Amino acid sequence: MLGDKILAMLKDEISQIEYERYIKNLSFDEEASKVDQAVFNAPNLFIANWVKTKYKEKLQQLFELETGIETEVIIRSSKKSVQKIQKQMASQPPSNTSTKINPTYTFENFVVGSSNQFAYSAAESVAKKPGVTYNPLFIYGGVGLGKTHLLHAIGNYNIKQNRVVIYATIEQFMNDFTYHLRNKTIEKFREKYRDCDILLIDDIQFLSGKERTQEEFFHTFNELHNEHKQIVLTSDKPPKKIAGLEERLKSRFEWGLIADIQPPELETKIAIIKKKCELNGINLDDEIVNYLAANMDSNIREIEGVILKLNAYSTLVNQQITMDLAKNVLGEQKREQQKNISLKDIVDVVSSELNIKPSEIKSRSRNRQIVNARRIVIYLARTLTPNSMPQLAQFFGMKDHTSVSHAMKKVKEMIEQDENFKLKIEELAHKIKSHASSEE
Ligand code: ADP
Ligand code: MG
Repeated sequence: MLGDKILAMLKDEISQIEYERYIKNLSFDEEASKVDQAVFNAPNLFIANWVKTKYKEKLQQLFELETGIETEVIIRSSKKSVQKIQKQMASQPPSNTSTKINPTYTFENFVVGSSNQFAYSAAESVAKKPGVTYNPLFIYGGVGLGKTHLLHAIGNYNIKQNRVVIYATIEQFMNDFTYHLRNKTIEKFREKYRDCDILLIDDIQFLSGKERTQEEFFHTFNELHNEHKQIVLTSDKPPKKIAGLEERLKSRFEWGLIADIQPPELETKIAIIKKKCELNGINLDDEIVNYLAANMDSNIREIEGVILKLNAYSTLVNQQITMDLAKNVLGEQKREQQKNISLKDIVDVVSSELNIKPSEIKSRSRNRQIVNARRIVIYLARTLTPNSMPQLAQFFGMKDHTSVSHAMKKVKEMIEQDENFKLKIEELAHKIKSHASSEE
């Protein structure tokens, strides 16, 4: 077959190692091919990408040489195999179902740097003397910075001390509450959340606007606090900044200690990557660790995802993790993230979060709030999607790209000057990303 003949020709031109590793795994898809289009199937995305970047042109030349017809070469992949391996690797060890606490989220496995030192110490002190030092402890910070990890670390430590620990996200608390309310078993619910030594509640910001749950949580809080039982809460923002939260709860959340976690500096990021590699039995050269730390933002969960993906690829092709591979995977990750976000996602999320109508974003209104929202949308569109400034100008019905560039400049200035604004933008970006991925 022509395709096989071409592959044999390529074999003569490249090293045996390269042939064995990549080209040998390709199969010519005769049915899908046409006179001027040759389709090859690769066993996975990685090999497909590799062949595309390194050999596609060469293959096209060989086809033309052989047939005299200008031929386009297409490399397809079955994505499944990579995803499957990744899933296997990412699956956490079984957690104790009664407490839902992840046994690997311990103090020992938490890397301490100046960005999280304060929260770490506070968590440790509360874990060692629950109900005595700070009550409640309120930990807040951006996405993927280790809040849940610290919460579980407090839990793990105290399970070992045979204390009764309850961990739940505020959403679970809320669901439990509605369930027992409906079933007229509210006493059971109260027993569950009040008969404990330590109550750990994750992502308390979602209490916002939920009045009945707030009322119930208020009583749970008071009862535990009166009995000197430890309460630890996490949130993406400090109590004051949680909109739609009753004042009496806000003030109670401030009774104890409020500790923030900041995005890690480069050094801490490097140390965290090394720790994750060690825990997962993955070998990464320092050069690659540094590259990942410098080129990814501070969301540790995402960094972890990339490490696992790298490892999955390298297992698949039975090859050491090289710098080329790291660059390839990181690039792919970024492209995939961008690909999934549409301008509509951005408009939808920002307008709903800032309480204005989507149509107002694209309008010519000079209302301050709307102008501000429009700028934010443009900034996020430029940073989260591959659209150019002229393309954005066209989408938003602006005269030309200078208006886009002006909006970008304004937002960048505000980010530099106002820490809360910066947090808000990060939060919006996160919401847009999860909004986009939930629509797939
Ligand atoms: P958050 O709850 O703040 O969104 P998580 O606690 O879920 O973030 O952390 C996301 C991932 O990053 C987890 O796998 C966690 O173990 C890891 N992580 C975050 N900070 C650290 C750290 N300082 N040391 C080790 N792992 C960390
Ligand atoms: Mg969390």
